[in-house]
Amino acid sequence: MRPLVGLWLLATFLVADAHIFVYHRFGDSRHPSTNTSIEVLKKQFDYFKSHGYKVIKLERLVKALENKEPIPDHWVVLTIDDSFKSFYTDGLPIFKAYGYPFTLFVYTKATEERYGDFMSWDQINEAKKYGELGFHSHTHPHMVSKSDEYLKKDFVRGLALMKRRSGVRPSYFAYPYGEYDDRVRKITESFGFDAICNQNVGAVGVASDIHDLDRIALTGDPDLFRKLRIRFLPATWLSPVKWPESGIVKDIHVKIDIPTNAKKAQIYLTGYGWRWVPIKDGQVSAHLSFALKNRRSRLILKLGNDKISTKILVKP
Ligand SMILES: [Zn+2]
Repeated sequence: MRPLVGLWLLATFLVADAHIFVYHRFGDSRHPSTNTSIEVLKKQFDYFKSHGYKVIKLERLVKALENKEPIPDHWVVLTIDDSFKSFYTDGLPIFKAYGYPFTLFVYTKATEERYGDFMSWDQINEAKKYGELGFHSHTHPHMVSKSDEYLKKDFVRGLALMKRRSGVRPSYFAYPYGEYDDRVRKITESFGFDAICNQNVGAVGVASDIHDLDRIALTGDPDLFRKLRIRFLPATWLSPVKWPESGIVKDIHVKIDIPTNAKKAQIYLTGYGWRWVPIKDGQVSAHLSFALKNRRSRLILKLGNDKISTKILVKP
């Protein structure tokens, strides 16, 4: 790498990260864990507006990543999973009023079979005028538990329906429940998406993996200021790389892919909270013995106050 390019990369690591947020339901208090009230949504949009944030399409962010452009610090991408009816009835009018684009990740079977709580194809096609459509699977399965054959069929079926009913062949995919592993990722990639979104806490920087983009959930009434401070930490997870067969995490080994003088970092594990771990030669190594408590567990490495890299472990 030429020295100047190295400096430029270093500078962008330090100053610039975008944020992708994910919503589910709007103004639907029956489901508090996946809901964002209209009052909170307006408060968040007002915050973006008054603090100079620019809400862009996922398409724009993906282009910038593909071209290795610097990622401006004030970019925000808004995504919506599941195509619930409450997005059409309550959320969309607010997005339109603020002129904010969005990416709607469609759960095709729910719409095709007219499940009560979900948007119709007519509503999806109306919403599409103001944003982009992504794919969120046909049957919304826990993908890690399904066979290769099941997953491939699910993609073929759902993508064909998207094309037939909306005329769109989506360029973006979001994993149902944010659950995936390397096998699921490879199958997903074989369907040629430009970008794949997870649901891990994190930001998006110039070195982000376009097929593994972190998204931060904005349900309830989260501290938006703190979420926007989160930075992307370029890091390589060497261990664990998947759900351990024993169900016990024994070694954590992560290579930090930026220069750092820090002597320690923090590691979080679902159900166990945070702990300090030493950094040696740019790597974090911890030997421990944690029985995983949740079938979907996350390990988070935090460097300094806000640089974050997440590894999700899902029980097959
Ligand atoms: Zn979903």
